[in-house]
Amino acid sequence: MKPNLFQYVRAKSTKDAVSLLEELGEDTQILAGGQSLVPTMALRMANPETLIDISAIAELQIIELSNGVLTIGAGCRYVDILNRDLVVKSAPLLCQAIPYIAHDAIRNRGTIGGSLALADPASELPACMLALNAVIIVESNDGQRKISALDFFQGTYFTALSENELLVAVEIPEIGSNQIHEFHEISRRSGDYAISGGAFVLTLEDSLITCAQLAYFAVSDCAVLATNAAEALEGVSLSPETIISVSDIVAGEIEFFADLYNSEATKKQVTKVLTRRMLTKIYDGIG
Ligand SMILES: Cc1cc2nc3c(=O)[nH]c(=O)nc-3n(C[C@H](O)[C@H](O)[C@H](O)COP(=O)(O)OP(=O)(O)OC[C@H]3O[C@@H](n4cnc5c(N)ncnc54)[C@H](O)[C@@H]3O)c2cc1C
Repeated sequence: MKPNLFQYVRAKSTKDAVSLLEELGEDTQILAGGQSLVPTMALRMANPETLIDISAIAELQIIELSNGVLTIGAGCRYVDILNRDLVVKSAPLLCQAIPYIAHDAIRNRGTIGGSLALADPASELPACMLALNAVIIVESNDGQRKISALDFFQGTYFTALSENELLVAVEIPEIGSNQIHEFHEISRRSGDYAISGGAFVLTLEDSLITCAQLAYFAVSDCAVLATNAAEALEGVSLSPETIISVSDIVAGEIEFFADLYNSEATKKQVTKVLTRRMLTKIYDGIG
Protein backbone atom coordinates (compact mmCIF):
# COMPACT_ATOMS: atom_id res chain seq x y z
CA MET A 1 0.00 0.00 0.00
CA LYS A 2 1.14 3.60 -0.57
CA PRO A 3 0.60 6.53 1.82
CA ASN A 4 -2.09 9.14 1.22
CA LEU A 5 -0.96 12.33 -0.45
CA PHE A 6 0.89 14.65 1.91
CA GLN A 7 2.84 17.91 1.82
CA TYR A 8 6.53 17.89 2.69
CA VAL A 9 8.50 20.74 4.29
CA ARG A 10 12.15 20.64 5.28
CA ALA A 11 12.86 22.72 8.41
CA LYS A 12 16.13 24.68 8.41
CA SER A 13 16.42 25.21 12.16
CA THR A 14 14.73 24.29 15.42
CA LYS A 15 13.03 27.69 15.44
CA ASP A 16 11.79 27.10 11.90
CA ALA A 17 10.47 23.63 12.84
CA VAL A 18 8.50 24.85 15.88
CA SER A 19 7.06 27.80 13.92
CA LEU A 20 5.93 25.41 11.19
CA LEU A 21 4.39 23.09 13.80
CA GLU A 22 2.41 26.00 15.23
CA GLU A 23 1.40 27.36 11.83
CA LEU A 24 0.40 24.09 10.16
CA GLY A 25 -1.64 22.69 13.05
CA GLU A 26 -2.69 19.28 14.26
CA ASP A 27 -2.55 17.26 11.02
CA THR A 28 1.19 17.84 10.86
CA GLN A 29 3.85 15.36 11.98
CA ILE A 30 7.57 15.60 12.49
CA LEU A 31 9.62 13.33 10.22
CA ALA A 32 12.88 12.29 11.91
CA GLY A 33 14.36 8.94 10.79
CA GLY A 34 11.01 7.83 9.37
CA GLN A 35 11.53 4.27 10.62
CA SER A 36 8.21 4.17 12.47
CA LEU A 37 6.28 6.99 10.81
CA VAL A 38 6.80 5.97 7.18
CA PRO A 39 5.66 2.33 7.63
CA THR A 40 2.55 3.51 9.54
CA MET A 41 1.80 5.98 6.72
CA ALA A 42 2.27 3.25 4.14
CA LEU A 43 -0.28 1.17 6.06
CA ARG A 44 -2.50 4.29 6.26
CA MET A 45 -2.60 4.01 10.02
CA ALA A 46 -1.16 7.56 10.04
CA ASN A 47 -2.39 10.10 7.49
CA PRO A 48 -0.71 13.43 8.21
CA GLU A 49 -1.44 16.30 5.83
CA THR A 50 2.08 17.67 6.18
CA LEU A 51 5.45 16.27 7.24
CA ILE A 52 8.11 18.57 8.70
CA ASP A 53 11.46 16.96 8.01
CA ILE A 54 13.94 17.79 10.80
CA SER A 55 16.81 15.63 9.54
CA ALA A 56 18.82 18.59 8.15
CA ILE A 57 18.79 20.64 11.38
CA ALA A 58 22.40 20.83 12.59
CA GLU A 59 21.43 21.99 16.13
CA LEU A 60 19.64 18.68 16.67
CA GLN A 61 22.77 16.65 15.88
CA ILE A 62 24.92 17.72 18.84
CA ILE A 63 26.56 15.34 21.30
CA GLU A 64 28.45 17.23 24.00
CA LEU A 65 29.56 16.94 27.61
CA SER A 66 29.52 19.98 29.87
CA ASN A 67 29.60 20.23 33.69
CA GLY A 68 28.96 16.50 34.09
CA VAL A 69 25.93 16.45 31.79
CA LEU A 70 25.88 14.69 28.43
CA THR A 71 23.55 16.40 25.94
CA ILE A 72 22.37 14.44 22.92
CA GLY A 73 20.35 16.21 20.22
CA ALA A 74 17.06 14.64 19.20
CA GLY A 75 18.19 14.24 15.61
CA CYS A 76 21.15 12.00 16.48
CA ARG A 77 20.73 8.63 14.85
CA TYR A 78 21.35 5.45 16.83
CA VAL A 79 24.48 4.80 14.77
CA ASP A 80 25.91 8.27 15.61
CA ILE A 81 25.41 7.71 19.33
CA LEU A 82 26.82 4.19 19.35
CA ASN A 83 30.10 5.19 17.73
CA ARG A 84 30.79 8.30 19.80
CA ASP A 85 33.64 8.08 22.37
CA LEU A 86 31.93 10.69 24.56
CA VAL A 87 28.88 8.45 24.93
CA VAL A 88 30.99 5.33 25.53
CA LYS A 89 32.69 7.15 28.43
CA SER A 90 29.78 9.15 29.86
CA ALA A 91 26.73 6.94 29.32
CA PRO A 92 27.90 3.41 28.45
CA LEU A 93 24.37 2.10 29.09
CA LEU A 94 23.29 3.59 25.74
CA CYS A 95 26.08 1.77 23.93
CA GLN A 96 25.00 -1.48 25.56
CA ALA A 97 21.35 -0.88 24.61
CA ILE A 98 21.50 0.37 21.01
CA PRO A 99 22.79 -2.86 19.41
CA TYR A 100 19.56 -4.51 20.62
CA ILE A 101 17.41 -2.06 18.61
CA ALA A 102 16.19 -3.71 15.41
CA HIS A 103 18.87 -4.12 12.69
CA ASP A 104 21.64 -2.03 11.08
CA ALA A 105 19.33 -0.53 8.42
CA ILE A 106 16.99 0.86 11.10
CA ARG A 107 19.83 1.95 13.40
CA ASN A 108 21.35 3.87 10.47
CA ARG A 109 18.24 6.08 10.13
CA GLY A 110 16.28 5.96 13.42
CA THR A 111 16.87 8.79 15.91
CA ILE A 112 16.89 9.08 19.68
CA GLY A 113 14.26 11.85 19.47
CA GLY A 114 12.00 9.70 17.31
CA SER A 115 12.25 6.79 19.71
CA LEU A 116 11.46 8.93 22.78
CA ALA A 117 8.66 10.94 21.12
CA LEU A 118 7.02 7.75 19.88
CA ALA A 119 7.23 6.08 23.33
CA ASP A 120 6.67 2.53 22.18
CA PRO A 121 6.46 0.51 25.42
CA ALA A 122 8.79 -2.10 23.87
CA SER A 123 11.53 0.40 22.98
CA GLU A 124 14.89 0.25 24.67
CA LEU A 125 15.71 3.97 24.98
CA PRO A 126 12.80 5.20 27.15
CA ALA A 127 13.85 2.68 29.83
CA CYS A 128 17.47 3.84 29.54
CA MET A 129 16.29 7.43 30.09
CA LEU A 130 14.48 6.36 33.29
CA ALA A 131 17.48 4.42 34.59
CA LEU A 132 19.82 7.31 33.81
CA ASN A 133 17.59 9.99 35.40
CA ALA A 134 17.58 11.83 32.09
CA VAL A 135 15.85 15.12 31.40
CA ILE A 136 14.02 15.62 28.11
CA ILE A 137 14.07 19.08 26.53
CA VAL A 138 11.13 20.12 24.38
CA GLU A 139 10.59 23.40 22.54
CA SER A 140 7.65 25.37 21.15
CA ASN A 141 7.18 28.98 20.02
CA ASP A 142 6.80 29.81 23.75
CA GLY A 143 10.30 28.56 24.60
CA GLN A 144 11.81 25.40 26.13
CA ARG A 145 10.57 23.05 28.87
CA LYS A 146 12.65 20.46 30.69
CA ILE A 147 10.77 17.31 31.69
CA SER A 148 12.18 14.46 33.79
CA ALA A 149 12.04 11.09 32.02
CA LEU A 150 9.80 9.88 34.86
CA ASP A 151 7.17 12.50 33.98
CA PHE A 152 7.70 12.29 30.23
CA PHE A 153 6.57 8.69 29.55
CA GLN A 154 2.88 8.48 30.45
CA GLY A 155 1.49 5.45 28.59
CA THR A 156 1.54 3.51 25.32
CA TYR A 157 2.64 5.97 22.60
CA PHE A 158 1.74 8.71 25.07
CA THR A 159 4.12 11.33 26.45
CA ALA A 160 4.12 14.79 28.03
CA LEU A 161 4.95 16.30 24.61
CA SER A 162 2.28 18.71 23.33
CA GLU A 163 1.25 18.88 19.68
CA ASN A 164 3.07 22.18 19.15
CA GLU A 165 6.31 20.97 20.77
CA LEU A 166 9.45 19.51 19.27
CA LEU A 167 11.66 17.19 21.30
CA VAL A 168 15.05 18.86 20.90
CA ALA A 169 17.52 17.03 23.19
CA VAL A 170 18.09 14.85 26.22
CA GLU A 171 20.38 15.62 29.14
CA ILE A 172 22.00 12.67 30.89
CA PRO A 173 24.11 12.92 34.07
CA GLU A 174 27.60 11.58 33.36
CA ILE A 175 28.27 8.14 34.90
CA GLY A 176 30.07 8.37 38.27
CA SER A 177 33.15 6.30 39.10
CA ASN A 178 31.03 4.55 41.75
CA GLN A 179 28.22 3.62 39.34
CA ILE A 180 27.54 0.45 37.38
CA HIS A 181 25.34 0.37 34.26
CA GLU A 182 23.80 -2.86 32.99
CA PHE A 183 21.45 -3.57 30.08
CA HIS A 184 19.90 -6.80 28.85
CA GLU A 185 16.83 -8.00 27.03
CA ILE A 186 15.28 -11.36 26.27
CA SER A 187 13.71 -11.73 22.84
CA ARG A 188 12.70 -14.58 20.57
CA ARG A 189 15.31 -13.72 17.91
CA SER A 190 18.09 -11.14 17.73
CA GLY A 191 16.64 -7.85 16.41
CA ASP A 192 13.07 -8.64 17.52
CA TYR A 193 11.30 -6.46 20.05
CA ALA A 194 11.99 -7.81 23.54
CA ILE A 195 9.69 -10.02 25.59
CA SER A 196 11.21 -8.24 28.57
CA GLY A 197 14.18 -5.91 28.97
CA GLY A 198 15.97 -4.03 31.72
CA ALA A 199 18.25 -1.01 32.11
CA PHE A 200 19.88 -0.76 35.53
CA VAL A 201 22.08 1.85 37.19
CA LEU A 202 23.49 1.00 40.62
CA THR A 203 25.47 3.42 42.79
CA LEU A 204 27.87 1.79 45.25
CA GLU A 205 29.81 2.87 48.29
CA ASP A 206 32.44 0.17 48.78
CA SER A 207 30.24 -2.85 48.17
CA LEU A 208 27.04 -1.31 49.59
CA ILE A 209 24.35 -0.19 47.14
CA THR A 210 23.35 3.37 47.95
CA CYS A 211 20.97 3.93 45.02
CA ALA A 212 19.36 1.64 42.45
CA GLN A 213 17.45 2.61 39.31
CA LEU A 214 15.87 -0.53 37.81
CA ALA A 215 13.98 0.33 34.63
CA TYR A 216 12.05 -2.16 32.47
CA PHE A 217 10.55 -2.09 28.98
CA ALA A 218 8.29 -4.35 26.91
CA VAL A 219 6.51 -5.43 30.07
CA SER A 220 3.89 -2.78 30.78
CA ASP A 221 2.06 0.13 29.09
CA CYS A 222 5.28 2.16 29.05
CA ALA A 223 8.81 2.01 30.43
CA VAL A 224 8.64 1.60 34.22
CA LEU A 225 10.87 1.80 37.28
CA ALA A 226 10.70 -1.01 39.85
CA THR A 227 10.81 1.22 42.91
CA ASN A 228 10.08 -1.38 45.61
CA ALA A 229 12.87 -3.60 44.33
CA ALA A 230 15.21 -0.60 44.19
CA GLU A 231 14.39 0.20 47.80
CA ALA A 232 15.12 -3.40 48.81
CA LEU A 233 18.57 -3.11 47.23
CA GLU A 234 19.49 0.16 48.90
CA GLY A 235 21.78 -0.22 51.91
CA VAL A 236 22.65 -3.85 51.17
CA SER A 237 25.42 -5.72 49.33
CA LEU A 238 24.48 -7.96 46.43
CA SER A 239 24.40 -11.66 47.31
CA PRO A 240 22.80 -14.71 45.66
CA GLU A 241 19.98 -14.48 48.26
CA THR A 242 19.35 -10.76 47.65
CA ILE A 243 19.28 -11.37 43.90
CA ILE A 244 16.53 -13.97 44.24
CA SER A 245 14.43 -11.91 46.63
CA VAL A 246 14.77 -8.71 44.55
CA SER A 247 13.77 -10.61 41.37
CA ASP A 248 10.63 -11.77 43.20
CA ILE A 249 9.84 -8.20 44.30
CA VAL A 250 10.16 -6.98 40.70
CA ALA A 251 7.80 -9.70 39.48
CA GLY A 252 5.32 -8.72 42.19
CA GLU A 253 5.35 -4.96 41.71
CA ILE A 254 5.15 -4.44 37.93
CA GLU A 255 1.71 -4.35 36.32
CA PHE A 256 2.46 -6.69 33.41
CA PHE A 257 0.69 -6.24 30.05
CA ALA A 258 0.45 -9.02 27.47
CA ASP A 259 1.60 -8.35 23.89
CA LEU A 260 0.60 -10.11 20.66
CA TYR A 261 2.76 -13.16 21.42
CA ASN A 262 3.32 -13.27 25.18
CA SER A 263 0.86 -13.47 28.06
CA GLU A 264 1.17 -11.46 31.27
CA ALA A 265 2.34 -14.64 33.03
CA THR A 266 5.12 -15.16 30.46
CA LYS A 267 6.24 -11.55 30.82
CA LYS A 268 6.32 -11.91 34.59
CA GLN A 269 8.40 -15.10 34.52
CA VAL A 270 10.79 -13.77 31.85
CA THR A 271 11.25 -10.53 33.82
CA LYS A 272 12.14 -12.52 36.92
CA VAL A 273 14.77 -14.47 34.99
CA LEU A 274 16.05 -11.29 33.30
CA THR A 275 16.46 -9.51 36.67
CA ARG A 276 18.29 -12.49 38.15
CA ARG A 277 20.65 -12.63 35.17
CA MET A 278 21.38 -8.91 35.22
CA LEU A 279 22.01 -8.70 38.96
CA THR A 280 24.13 -11.86 38.84
CA LYS A 281 26.27 -10.32 36.11
CA ILE A 282 26.77 -7.21 38.26
CA TYR A 283 27.54 -9.38 41.33
CA ASP A 284 30.11 -11.42 39.40
CA GLY A 285 31.67 -8.18 38.11
CA ILE A 286 31.96 -6.66 41.59
CA GLY A 287 33.30 -9.83 43.13
C1 LIG B 1 11.39 -3.57 11.47
C2 LIG B 1 11.55 -2.58 12.60
C3 LIG B 1 12.02 -3.03 13.81
C4 LIG B 1 12.17 -2.13 14.87
N1 LIG B 1 12.64 -2.59 16.06
C5 LIG B 1 12.82 -1.72 17.09
C6 LIG B 1 13.35 -2.15 18.34
O1 LIG B 1 13.70 -3.32 18.54
N2 LIG B 1 13.46 -1.23 19.33
C7 LIG B 1 13.09 0.10 19.15
O2 LIG B 1 13.22 0.90 20.07
N3 LIG B 1 12.61 0.51 17.98
C8 LIG B 1 12.46 -0.34 16.95
N4 LIG B 1 11.97 0.12 15.76
C9 LIG B 1 11.55 1.55 15.66
C10 LIG B 1 12.76 2.43 15.34
O3 LIG B 1 13.64 2.43 16.45
C11 LIG B 1 12.39 3.87 15.04
O4 LIG B 1 13.48 4.43 14.46
C12 LIG B 1 12.00 4.78 16.19
O5 LIG B 1 10.99 4.27 16.96
C13 LIG B 1 11.50 6.11 15.67
O6 LIG B 1 12.59 6.90 15.31
P1 LIG B 1 12.60 7.69 13.96
O7 LIG B 1 13.72 8.67 14.08
O8 LIG B 1 12.63 6.76 12.81
O9 LIG B 1 11.22 8.50 14.06
P2 LIG B 1 10.06 8.71 13.00
O10 LIG B 1 9.57 7.41 12.48
O11 LIG B 1 10.47 9.72 11.99
O12 LIG B 1 8.96 9.37 13.97
C14 LIG B 1 8.29 8.60 14.94
C15 LIG B 1 7.25 9.48 15.65
O13 LIG B 1 7.88 10.42 16.50
C16 LIG B 1 7.59 11.77 16.09
N5 LIG B 1 8.85 12.50 16.22
C17 LIG B 1 10.06 12.12 15.72
N6 LIG B 1 11.02 12.97 16.13
C18 LIG B 1 10.40 13.91 16.90
C19 LIG B 1 10.87 15.04 17.61
N7 LIG B 1 12.16 15.40 17.62
N8 LIG B 1 9.97 15.78 18.29
C20 LIG B 1 8.66 15.44 18.30
N9 LIG B 1 8.15 14.37 17.66
C21 LIG B 1 9.02 13.61 16.96
C22 LIG B 1 7.11 11.65 14.65
O14 LIG B 1 6.24 12.71 14.30
C23 LIG B 1 6.40 10.31 14.68
O15 LIG B 1 5.12 10.46 15.24
C24 LIG B 1 11.82 -0.75 14.69
C25 LIG B 1 11.34 -0.30 13.45
C26 LIG B 1 11.21 -1.19 12.41
C27 LIG B 1 10.72 -0.69 11.08
